[in-house]
Amino acid sequence: MDKRQTNNCEICGELFTDLPLDEECSCSKRKDAAFYVNSDGGEFVWNPDLNAEEGEIHDFYVIRNGEMRIKATDGKGNDYVLRYTEDLETFGITTDEQLYEASTDEENFYWDMNPWYEICSDDDVYNSDVFDDLDKAIAEAVRLRKEGQYL
Ligand SMILES: [Zn+2]
Repeated sequence: MDKRQTNNCEICGELFTDLPLDEECSCSKRKDAAFYVNSDGGEFVWNPDLNAEEGEIHDFYVIRNGEMRIKATDGKGNDYVLRYTEDLETFGITTDEQLYEASTDEENFYWDMNPWYEICSDDDVYNSDVFDDLDKAIAEAVRLRKEGQYL
């Protein structure tokens, strides 16, 4: 990701006060859609207009969609079904790296259903492709905004 231009994280919107500009937010290590599953419905992941006044620009934004269901077994042979981000964290997985490492062991970490990213617009005219990669989804949303199709 490019150097941050503002004092807010461009992904999660968190305000930085002490971090130098060339340091990335902790959410940069959590770009898999699995880290944005806090509810059953779709969830905003990137929406720079979240604080905009009603009637102002709201297109386009990135949401996490799809349910998560992972059948996991821990080192002691206990079985778990991981459905939400907090289940993953309780299981000890808090970063993309740990998630991908665990996923290499299909016998003990099986993806039954996986969430994904989509780009949406308020008028629902736009049917987005599905994205695995958050950076690519954000880049596409930014490109569409610049194109001004629904602004
Ligand atoms: Zn962040």
